Amino acid sequence: MGRYDGRVAVITGSARGIGFGIATRLAEEGASIAVVDLDEAAAADAAARLPLAEGAKAIGIGADISNAEAVDAAIARVVAELGGIHVLVNNAGITRDNLLFKMTEDDWDLVMNVHLKGAFLMTKAAQAHFVEQKYGKILNLSSVSALGNRGQTNYSAAKMGIQGFTRTLGIELGRYGINANAIAPGFIATEMTDATAARVGVSVEDFRAAAAEANPVKRVGFPEDIAAAAAFLCSDEASYITGQTLYVDGGAKLG
Ligand code: NAP
Repeated sequence: MGRYDGRVAVITGSARGIGFGIATRLAEEGASIAVVDLDEAAAADAAARLPLAEGAKAIGIGADISNAEAVDAAIARVVAELGGIHVLVNNAGITRDNLLFKMTEDDWDLVMNVHLKGAFLMTKAAQAHFVEQKYGKILNLSSVSALGNRGQTNYSAAKMGIQGFTRTLGIELGRYGINANAIAPGFIATEMTDATAARVGVSVEDFRAAAAEANPVKRVGFPEDIAAAAAFLCSDEASYITGQTLYVDGGAKLG
C-alpha cells in the first residue's frame, strides 16, 4: 500500500526537472498525476513515462499557469478526468536574471507572473475543491535565492513572496483540513541550472563541480532529493506541519 493510493496530485511545470521528479515519486507511492506544463505534448509525454501503480492514471495538460482561464480549465479537466484533486504542487518556474540596473520591466513582470500569480491562481482554483472535501495538501517551491542572490532581484523577491504566501495559506486554510508548506531547494541539477551555466559561460560539469565544492555536503542536489521531502510534506504523516518552508539545500546557507 502506498501513501498516495487513491490520491490525485496536480504538479505544475512537471514535464521535466524537479516537477517531474516529484511526479515520479508520488506516482511510485500510488498517486494519479496531472502533469501541467506550458507545452501539452511535453506534458503528455512526461505523463506517459510515469511509473504508475495499478489503477492509477496520469494525464498531461498544456496550460500557462499565469493565465486565469487556462488555470480554471486545467483544474476542471483534472477533476473530470482523474475524479478529484487532493494535492497541488506549485512548481513551475522561470528565471530572467540580470543585475538590477539592467533588469527590464518585462523580466520583472514575467517572473512575478509565473511564480506568484501562477501559484495564486492554481491555489485559488484548487482550494475550492479542497475546502468542500475538507482535505488538501499544497506544496509551493521557494528557493535559497529567497535569502538574496546577486542578479536575481526579481526571482528572490518572488521566492520570498512564496514563503509569505505559504504562511498565510497555513493560517487561512488549516481549519478546512488543508496543509500548505514550501520547499526551498538549493542547487539542483536541472535544465534551469544548466541554463544558468550557459548564461555565465561555464560548462555544466564545471558549474556543478563548483556548486558541489561550495556546499557543506560536497555535492549538488537532484530532483529526487526534493521529491523525497515533497512526498513527506504532502502526506498525512505531515498533517501537523503547515505554513513552513523546509530548506533542502545540503546546508548551503548555514554560513
Ligand atoms: P525547469 O527544469 O526549468 O522546469 C520548469 C518547468 O516549468 C518547465 O517545464 C517549464 O516549461 C515550466 N513552466 C515555465 N513557465 C510555466 C508556465 N507559465 N506555466 C506552466 N509551466 C511553466 O526548472 P526546475 O529546475 O525543475 O525548477 C522547478 C522549480 O524549483 C521552480 O519553481 C524553480 O524556481 C525552483 N527551484 C529550482 C532550483 C534549481 O536549482 N533547479 C533551485 C531552487 C528553486 P518550458 O520548458 O516550456 O519553459
